[in-house]
Amino acid sequence: MIYSVKEIFLTIQGEGYNSGRKATFCRFSGCNLWNGLETSKKTAKCNFCDTDFVGVDGINGGKYTLSSLVSKIEKVSKENNKEKKLIVFTGGEPLLQLNEDLIKNLKKKNYEIAIETNGTINPPKGVDWICVSPKIKNKIVLNYGNEIKVVYPQKGINLNEFENLRFEHYYLQPLHNEKYSQNLKKTLEAIMKHPKWKLSLQTHKFIGVK
Ligand code: SF4
Repeated sequence: MIYSVKEIFLTIQGEGYNSGRKATFCRFSGCNLWNGLETSKKTAKCNFCDTDFVGVDGINGGKYTLSSLVSKIEKVSKENNKEKKLIVFTGGEPLLQLNEDLIKNLKKKNYEIAIETNGTINPPKGVDWICVSPKIKNKIVLNYGNEIKVVYPQKGINLNEFENLRFEHYYLQPLHNEKYSQNLKKTLEAIMKHPKWKLSLQTHKFIGVK
């Protein structure tokens, strides 16, 4: 298999439960809910995306074989193989490409495997940390995991519908657009009404890291 990767970089995880942890991010190209073109955004199945996942032209982006991708991730991680290392597969939609071979090879190098997925595709075996971020109008098939992170508000969303799914942590994260202050206010109000949910902020945006 050839993997299409937009970018790979070392950073601090900014969101959700692992917020503040050093992590290597591998952003796969492509998503099943939007083709990434501005001209089709309004009619896409997911229409509030703020991520560039098109092509392979980001930092350390490219087309990789299994062994070349593992080597590149190792190089970017810059860590001793004896240490436990966190790799976060994101996108786009990472489950279009992440497979058991890649997971097994990274585990041999002592990586802890995390994914950030829209929940519409089931994951391969071996993922250690599953974060599902559902997009309204798109049925999730992955209804269990470590954390569910709902970008808020989304028109027509009913938080009660998620509360019986099998997640350890429930997060609401204000939608980062030109109405951020209003979105934050609505998010805080929702948390006051639905105490199962906790606030997730995109702290990497505040501290100026990728
Ligand atoms: S599912 Fe995620 S990556 Fe895909 S368009 Fe929506 S926000 Fe962007």
